[in-house]
Amino acid sequence: MKKKAFKTESKRILDLMINSIYTNKEIFLRELISNASDAIDKVYYRSLTDKNLKIDKDKLEIIIERDSQNRVLTIKDNGCGMSADELENNLGVIAESGSLKFKEENENQEDVSIIGQFGVGFYSAFMVSKRVEVISRTPDSDNAYMWASEGVDGYTIEEVAKENVGTTIKLYLKDDTEDEKYSEYLEEYKIRNLVKKYSDYIKYPIKMEVENSKLVEGTEDKYETVHEIAVLNSMTPLWKKDKKTITEDEYHNFYSERFYDYEAPLKVIHMNVEGLQSYKALLYIPSHAPYDFYTKEYKKGLQLYTNGVLIMDKCEELLPDYYSFVKGVVDSDDLSLNISRETLQNDKNVKQIAKSLETKIHNELLDMQKNDFETYKKFFKAFGNQIKYGIYNMYGMNKEKLEDLLIFYSANAKEFITLDKYIENMDKDQTAIYYVSGETIQKIDMLPQVEQVKKKGYDILYLTDYVDEFAIQILNKYKDKEFKNVSDAQTDFSSEEDKKKIEKLNKDNKEILDFIKKSLGSEVVDVRLTDKLSSHPVCLTTEGEVSVEMQKVINAMPTDEHINASLVLEINSKHKIVKKLKSLYETDKNELKKYAKVLYSEARLIEGLPIENPTEISNLIAEMISK
Ligand code: ADP
Repeated sequence: MKKKAFKTESKRILDLMINSIYTNKEIFLRELISNASDAIDKVYYRSLTDKNLKIDKDKLEIIIERDSQNRVLTIKDNGCGMSADELENNLGVIAESGSLKFKEENENQEDVSIIGQFGVGFYSAFMVSKRVEVISRTPDSDNAYMWASEGVDGYTIEEVAKENVGTTIKLYLKDDTEDEKYSEYLEEYKIRNLVKKYSDYIKYPIKMEVENSKLVEGTEDKYETVHEIAVLNSMTPLWKKDKKTITEDEYHNFYSERFYDYEAPLKVIHMNVEGLQSYKALLYIPSHAPYDFYTKEYKKGLQLYTNGVLIMDKCEELLPDYYSFVKGVVDSDDLSLNISRETLQNDKNVKQIAKSLETKIHNELLDMQKNDFETYKKFFKAFGNQIKYGIYNMYGMNKEKLEDLLIFYSANAKEFITLDKYIENMDKDQTAIYYVSGETIQKIDMLPQVEQVKKKGYDILYLTDYVDEFAIQILNKYKDKEFKNVSDAQTDFSSEEDKKKIEKLNKDNKEILDFIKKSLGSEVVDVRLTDKLSSHPVCLTTEGEVSVEMQKVINAMPTDEHINASLVLEINSKHKIVKKLKSLYETDKNELKKYAKVLYSEARLIEGLPIENPTEISNLIAEMISK
């Protein structure tokens, strides 16, 4: 018999498996059981449309046999089997995943349950075996074939006898070493545990002969050992089980196995909905964003099952964009197995389910916010931006559904708070929610404009994410309370009397202020004397919708769009600089121009804005202080 060589790529992977120092060798069983289950799915699926293929639905099963004497572990299934060609193509070439091919060929049927696609696959058998035999027969032929290999050297394929359709895989276990006891995989308890751990929700029975002790009939205390066939898996998928019987560990294991996240999720949401649309769902809120979350490669979606068969791996219709971080499974018996992506988009059932999932996710997040704020902060750190984008997107169409999820840093509490909390703590005479944005909390804290609001005793929300202000502007109000930017020129707490005084002061000094404005060219829309500032000489505020922070964000975007905030230079009317400016206006207008430039540059620096010509300003300052 001629030995055939593996394709280069397969050889490399095989080599990796054989010499694996992978500590998790036990997963080979999961992989082989998943393959067996896929194969049964396929034969069952084919029987739905192929009238010539008769199968007994109740006899579909996976059988595990242990032969300790010969150190052979056998996994049998009565699935679709493989022809000689398929054995060659599927097991000789790893790059071409058979599951993927099947999926492509049945494109319009969407993803039939094919767990295999995600695993390390068949070759993992070589992590524990020195020889692997695959004996297989398809429903289309009376002939059976055996594929056998002892590793990278190659494999053989020969005709053999096999009574039933399906696949039998024989693993000749490696010899035990100091570190690895491969014989463990022949022990009942080990196999039981592995099946429970990895394959409990496989929907076909996984059977094995086990030892039980039984009361000898006719006696009261005599036991005998009997051998009987046991079903090792509960077959019910986790989401179909009763919540009360599931441990936290089970929930978490399922999550990490299925969604490849080894950090525990922040929240598990298990739903069993009965009604117009009956469905079960098991959703998870991860504790961190996946590495590709902010890239185009990231695809949102939930796994969609109907009648226990996976019909789509990432059904995006089930999740709105702002909850794209949610992972999980939805199982509804009201959907057709043959549903295609196009019909899915308009499917009323799917829409209803999506709506009810959204409400549930929202409520669970609110519940976390109320009852476990520490965890909620973690959530918000990971996915808060997603929520804010959700508010801002589509011209604020979804803002009402998301606004209560927001939290911001509060100047008074020195901690994150909700908008409700802000309102709860508002002064009696306070009518608006004050916010200010900047790069960091420390930098914001030192902004001159913040002083007047703090003095008044009002709390301020510090916004440090660049999407914050866009979200706030779209919101405009929260529970009838308007948002007000502390850096807005209109934000002014002085009394009517004081306002009049300032107005008069500005009128009296109109000529000087106009002169300063003119000397700054088109940089500012106005120059004003104000009494908002207590110790600082100057600050910049803005008029209109565009704030300094928004200007920074928009101008930093890789588009041609550029905007300028309408800047107002405010001069502290009580600062002694005013006297100086006045006297210069009388004596040396040229010098006043220089002062104006320096003061304006100072105000820009405080706002974190760049200075057009730093050398010029630096020279001006040097000239002034050396006088
Ligand atoms: P994957 O399952 O990811 O495609 P595997 O290496 O596990 O990759 O398996 C390769 C292919 O071999 C499968 O896609 C399937 O077509 C075939 N195969 C594996 N095990 C069986 C089995 N028990 N019965 C029928 N076909 C199988």
